[in-house]
Amino acid sequence: MGIQLFKASFNVEACLAQVRECLEKGWTGMGFKTVEFEEEWKKYTGHKYAYFINSNTAGLYMAVDTLKELYGWEDDDEIISTPLTFISTNHAITKSNLKAVFADVDDTLCLDPKSVEEHITDKTRAVIFVGFGGNTGKFKEVVKTCKERGLKLILDAAHMSGTRYKDGSVPGTNGDADIIVYSYQAVKNLPTGDSGCICTDDAKLDEIFRKKAWLGINKDTYARTVSAGGTYKWKYDVEYAGDKYNGNAIMAGIALAQLPYLDRDNAYRRTLAQWYTEAFSKYPGQISLVKIPDDCVTAQHLFQIMVKDRDGLMMYLNGNDIYPGVHYIANTDYCMYEYGKGTCPKADFASAHIISLPIHMGVTFEDVQYITGIVVKYIMEIRKGESYK
Ligand SMILES: *Cc1c(COP(=O)(O)O)cnc(C)c1O
Repeated sequence: MGIQLFKASFNVEACLAQVRECLEKGWTGMGFKTVEFEEEWKKYTGHKYAYFINSNTAGLYMAVDTLKELYGWEDDDEIISTPLTFISTNHAITKSNLKAVFADVDDTLCLDPKSVEEHITDKTRAVIFVGFGGNTGKFKEVVKTCKERGLKLILDAAHMSGTRYKDGSVPGTNGDADIIVYSYQAVKNLPTGDSGCICTDDAKLDEIFRKKAWLGINKDTYARTVSAGGTYKWKYDVEYAGDKYNGNAIMAGIALAQLPYLDRDNAYRRTLAQWYTEAFSKYPGQISLVKIPDDCVTAQHLFQIMVKDRDGLMMYLNGNDIYPGVHYIANTDYCMYEYGKGTCPKADFASAHIISLPIHMGVTFEDVQYITGIVVKYIMEIRKGESYK
């Protein structure tokens, strides 16, 4: 099998017990475990509201769409975003007929607050910040800019389940972000099958998400009748042409079973990163590492290095039964977003030189020694120690 980039590890018995409960109760859809998970996630993170949905992508789509409608944004208004992300982030902007304006990243691979400032125009309405690899980057500076300039802020926290600041607080809490969206997709830090969570401190937003994610259905007016002993349980009103984005009890059950192990798993990810870093820091001219700010306790979704000949290294590692990945090719390289091509030199550099090394619960100390040995051999012997610049 070799050493894969990602492999989810499940606490199988705990997951099965949760699923069994759903099956025996005859309740696998929305509600029940989804509500239980929402409560646990609010406790774990400190977000005031949390709504369990079927993916982070759905959450991002709904986040942009809801803000656009609520604040009366026009088509072609702008949202500042990063080219270095999974395509969901930028599609969320496009899907709402808004324009993604690309700002550059810094040495944390997250949005550079200076570049964000430079891209603000009178059409800018919001910023989407991606906590790349679990990193907080300079998020707090972006929060400050958004508050000063009256911009909304969405945090794509797909890689950030478990990320904290050193003081224990979770990025985006206390009103720092308007909307925070997590992913519990199969290879993320809190793996289920597919699911996610959309969080906010704003009761109004949470109320809208719950309707929009369920076709726009509003049961509230009739729920009152039901609790008063009425017979209109089957009646509801429809307020939006909504979507079908809600999560289900099976996925929520798996998330509930996994949550108690998230901090432990993330700590092991950071240990793996430390082992990699120790081996690579001897080659500062040849291997570039991603900066993690001192106040960030990263969820370490990824461990990445930048090297001169990324594609060659990739082939060499594959030849040695090691299967890394690339996160990400700059979205401005795709034809859809090529209007932004060449505007973000640091993201372009990362896109051409970056490689994500195996990081999951099944990677051992010996594996890391083996992988780092092969990487160093390729760079120092085969490529004769050429600089990555
Ligand atoms: C995985 C990912 C998403 C999408 O998450 P899904 O739950 O699979 O929809 C969005 N943004 C980033 C940065 C991701 O890595």
